[in-house]
Amino acid sequence: MSTLTMVIPCYNEEASLAKLYAEITRVSQLLLDEHGLSCRFLLVNDGSRDSTLAIIKALRERDPRLDYLSFSRNFGKEAAIYAGLQHSQGDFVAVLDADLQHPPVMLLEMFAAIANEGYDYVAARRTSRRGEAPLRSFFARSFYRLMNSVSPTKLVDGATDFALFTRQVALAILALPEYNRFAKGLYAWVGYKTKWLPYENVERVAGSSKWSFVGLFHYSLQGILGYTTAPLALPLYLGGGLLLVALGALLYLLGVGPSAAGERPFLIVLICGCSGMVCLSLGIVALYLGKMYWEIKGRPVYIIQEMSME
Ligand code: UDP
Ligand code: MG
Repeated sequence: MSTLTMVIPCYNEEASLAKLYAEITRVSQLLLDEHGLSCRFLLVNDGSRDSTLAIIKALRERDPRLDYLSFSRNFGKEAAIYAGLQHSQGDFVAVLDADLQHPPVMLLEMFAAIANEGYDYVAARRTSRRGEAPLRSFFARSFYRLMNSVSPTKLVDGATDFALFTRQVALAILALPEYNRFAKGLYAWVGYKTKWLPYENVERVAGSSKWSFVGLFHYSLQGILGYTTAPLALPLYLGGGLLLVALGALLYLLGVGPSAAGERPFLIVLICGCSGMVCLSLGIVALYLGKMYWEIKGRPVYIIQEMSME
């Protein structure tokens, strides 16, 4: 029989856990009946300060299918997902939020896509941002536009990190050991045959979102900084531009003669020439920095999905 582990990061979710547990057990029964899939639940307590851990322990007493990891402090959702993937077992892994904003019942459709249509990775994509603050929607959309214009790793607008995938995909994601993690980007980076299932945004069942505006801003910055070194090329272009201006002024100066030109072209050659040279040097350093950045991440050079050898 195939097995699935549901990895669920939990941070101050005392108010959601009862409903979450009821729903994931209901869905796991459906998965068993319809697909012969046996489920386990792996809850990762990300340093909650409320009674989340106590509730998880009580659930564990009742249900041996439920395991938990508990962090010494709050390390963030990305860390919780990483730990959950590392400790997950079975043929398939699903990652979902504890607040039921990622409807567990979608796992049925997700698994069907893997079992019947040959996908390796199935994730949910929000079709509307209804219920979200307009300003947050605006910045979220702008983020996707910016990210996709500067980064070779493309993200789908509305992509969530709610997903179900094969063990092979989980291992590929775990092969990216970087500290600054951005799950949606990692999922996209590893490749594999991916299906996006559209769904309507749902309100969380209880409690409140853990994201502050500043937190989200840093998170999106993480998404951009983690996947592209394009901004590092800016001083190179700026330096090149300044040197061109300096060259133009120099040619003008030589053309009309120093005495007829007045002092302005001198100043332009001096200022643009010097700052252009500084910028260009900075750009050259940045080129190496960019190369080092990718080396330091220690990502695999390739990921093999299939081969004929043992
Ligand atoms: N979460 C976490 N650590 C954190 C923040 C959030 O494990 O530091 C979990 C949280 O318990 C929930 C999921 O990540 O299961 C999504 O968090 P939230 O609902 O606050 O984010 P939003 O849905 O507003 O994007
Ligand atoms: Mg939520």
